[in-house]
Amino acid sequence: MAQLSDDCFAHGGSLMGVDEALGLLERRVGCIAASETAPLAAALDRILAEDLAAARNVPPYDNSAVDGYAISFDDLAAGRETRLKIAGRAAAGHPLGRAHERGEAVRIFTGAAMPEGADTVMMQEDCLREGDEVVIPPGIKRGANRRKAGEDVKAGSVILRAGRRLRPQDIGLAASVGCTMLPLRQALRVAVFSTGDELREPGSATPPGTVYDANRFMLAALLQRLGCAVADLGILPDRRAVIEGALAEAAQAHDAIITSGGVSTGEEDHVRAALEALGSLHFWRLAIKPGRPLAFGQIRGKAFLGLPGNPVAMMVTFLRFARPLLLRLMGCSETAPVLYRVRADFEHKKKEGRREWVRARLVPDGAGGVVARKFPREGAGILSSMVEADGLAELPESLTHLERGSMVDFLPFSEVS
Ligand code: AMP
Ligand code: MG
Repeated sequence: MAQLSDDCFAHGGSLMGVDEALGLLERRVGCIAASETAPLAAALDRILAEDLAAARNVPPYDNSAVDGYAISFDDLAAGRETRLKIAGRAAAGHPLGRAHERGEAVRIFTGAAMPEGADTVMMQEDCLREGDEVVIPPGIKRGANRRKAGEDVKAGSVILRAGRRLRPQDIGLAASVGCTMLPLRQALRVAVFSTGDELREPGSATPPGTVYDANRFMLAALLQRLGCAVADLGILPDRRAVIEGALAEAAQAHDAIITSGGVSTGEEDHVRAALEALGSLHFWRLAIKPGRPLAFGQIRGKAFLGLPGNPVAMMVTFLRFARPLLLRLMGCSETAPVLYRVRADFEHKKKEGRREWVRARLVPDGAGGVVARKFPREGAGILSSMVEADGLAELPESLTHLERGSMVDFLPFSEVS
């Protein structure tokens, strides 16, 4: 696997805007994933490593779009009915086996190859069959109900571009041109840790002052959705030496390491000290809420990302920063999520100069549309708010007062997780 460039995460100490941060990732981080070939059946959600060109036309031959009668347009009388004798039959997978002859109508079914010489198909519902003849009303156009060879895909054309994350329809298109194996990026191997002396494994005993670890499970699930091979490496105590040892070891067998907690500037935040001893660490003081400090670094050439410990902040910063970073490392060309403009059903005051994400549900507005409704409790630790929400309303830096009824950008969770 390729490595990251030395100082790809470096940034001076000033407060960084979201666009600047994302631009930096875009410019300085590239694909590190090797490619391999894998069968179509294993390609869903993976990244295509090379452009894919069509080896043949789809459809491969002219065929009928309906059940009816294949005719030659030139046999039709202008402005009145035409009576043609029915001769022969062509069904899907069973071509007529000879050319169409002038003056005849070939019984034809959807998907059947057009007999040579026939150029038009009369839909069965639109004509009248009388014994071995068919009566065709006037008014049909030449070429009606005929699907042309190559009208879907032209042989030789690029059907899917390198860097595309494959969706079911992409896989269908690859199959339609006869592909069996695809060049794909190998899954990124990502190691996941939680940090904090207060954290306990769900289900274990909880002495006073402890909480169950929620982040690791959320993080692992977010990474699975991205198609990463996740290694859950457990909870690290707030002890620098232990963190240092665990991160150094994780760097050997993984492409990226993501931790949560321990990256604020409190004295119990030991991830920073560990990283400074091991490799390079850059704190990005982002002008955002929730979230703020994010740690980016490298341990032996492997990407390190330290997310905030508060579960809501962790998920928001994952979706907005870790996700595009990982997609770039994976060789994906589309890393920015699609935001939708929706009407806000809430009022909101915010600080100028920072971007904020507000948890919201989409609810019917009573007039056929939807509005974004804010979740009433806002703390960065209120994980139940993420469960209730459909996504995040993203409020720009310049805004100080969002008025009810104005339009906001909305990031649906369904787009990104
Ligand atoms: P920290 O970023 O380590 O200062 O943690 C901030 C807050 O998030 C504290 O209240 C932690 O207890 C909480 N927290 C940190 N990690 C987790 C986790 N893995 N699961 C649930 N809560 C966490
Ligand atoms: Mg902590």
